[in-house]
Amino acid sequence: MAGLLSISEPNADSTTDLLNQPDTHTAAHTYNRDDIAQLFDLPLMDLLLKAQTIHREHFVANEIQISTLLSIKTGNCPEDCGYCSQSGHHRDTTKLQAEKRIEVDKVIAAAKRAKATGSSRFCMGAAWKHPSAKDMPYVVELIKEVKALGLETCMTLGMLDTDQASQLADAGLDYYNHNLDTSRSYYEQVVSTRSYDERLDTIENVRNSGINVCSGNIVGMGESRDDRIDWVHELLKMPKAPESIPVNLLVPIKGTPIGDKVLAEGQLSVLEWIRTIAVARICCPTSYVRLSAGRESLSDSEQALAFMAGANSFFYGDKLLTTGNASQSGDDRLMRELGLTKQFAAPRAPKVLPVMDAMSGHQSQVVLAD
Ligand code: SF4
Repeated sequence: MAGLLSISEPNADSTTDLLNQPDTHTAAHTYNRDDIAQLFDLPLMDLLLKAQTIHREHFVANEIQISTLLSIKTGNCPEDCGYCSQSGHHRDTTKLQAEKRIEVDKVIAAAKRAKATGSSRFCMGAAWKHPSAKDMPYVVELIKEVKALGLETCMTLGMLDTDQASQLADAGLDYYNHNLDTSRSYYEQVVSTRSYDERLDTIENVRNSGINVCSGNIVGMGESRDDRIDWVHELLKMPKAPESIPVNLLVPIKGTPIGDKVLAEGQLSVLEWIRTIAVARICCPTSYVRLSAGRESLSDSEQALAFMAGANSFFYGDKLLTTGNASQSGDDRLMRELGLTKQFAAPRAPKVLPVMDAMSGHQSQVVLAD
C-alpha cells in the first residue's frame, strides 16, 4: 500500500514524503500484519508525527474524553488472569479483600461525584466470569440510573451471551469492555480458564447487539513486539474496530504470577508502550485510544508523549478497579499545562423506552430504531 511504503525506509526522503502526504488510511482494515510491523519499526518521531496527524483528521485536537471507573463487585473472580489481583486463584498471595455487589444507591452516588468532577462516562466493573441471571436486573438498573444522570455508561462484567448483550443494549448501555489483553499465541501464558475465541465471541455478541465495543490490551506482561503487532492485527480482523481501545501498561502486582515475574525481570520501556498507542491510533483512526492502568507511575512528559501518540481518553480518579491511578488534582494540573480540554458526554438512547397509556395507566414498552 502506497502510503505506508513511503514511510517504510527511515531516511530523509521517506520522512519528507510522510510529512507531505495526506493520510488516506481511514479504514481500519487497510493495514495488514506487515504494515503494522513497519509502523512499529518507524523512528519514534516519525511515528508520533504520523499518529498525531491522523488523530487530528478524525478528532478535535487537544480534546480528551474522561471516564471514571468503579468496581461494583471486587475480588474472588473464578478466572485466573495472571496479572490480576482480583483472581480467586491468587488470593492467598495478593491478600485482596473480596467484596460483594455494591448497593445501587452507592453506585449512583459515585456516578454523581464523577459527573461533578467532569467525567463524561461512568464505567462499572465486576469480577465475574459472566453475570448470572440474578445479576442482570441489578446491572440493568445501574445502566438506567447512571444514564438518567446524563452520563455515558460502560460495563465490564466478563463473558456475555447474545441474550445478555441484548438486555444491556435495551437498557441503553453505551460501551462494553472486554479486553483481548494480548496476541492469540501469548494468551495462554496469561489466562488458562478461558480461550481467546471465547473472548472474541463475547465481543461479537456485544457488537451485534448495537453496544459500542471497548477492547484493549496490556503491554509489558512479558510478551514480544510480535505479540503487540498480532494484537493490533487482531483488532483489524474484526468486522469493525472497537470504538474504544484501552492501552494498559502493566501495573505489576506482587503476588500475581505475571506481576512477580515482571518485578523480578524488569519492566518494559515506556517508549514501547507509547509506540503501541501510536500504532493503535494510526490503524484505528476513528477509535478512542485510552490510557488506562499504568499512568500513575508516569511522568508528565511521558503522558504528554502518549497524548502526542494519539491517546484521547483516560480514567479520572484516584483509583481504577483495585490499583491506584494518577491523582485527580494532578490530572487537572497536567491538562491545564498541556492545554487539553474535556469532551462532553453523548449517551446513546436506550433501545427500549417505558411508556404509560394516559387513559388506562397501562405500562408498555416502545422499541426504538437504531
Ligand atoms: S482480569 Fe477480570 S476476569 Fe481476569 S481475574 Fe481479574 S476480574 Fe477476573
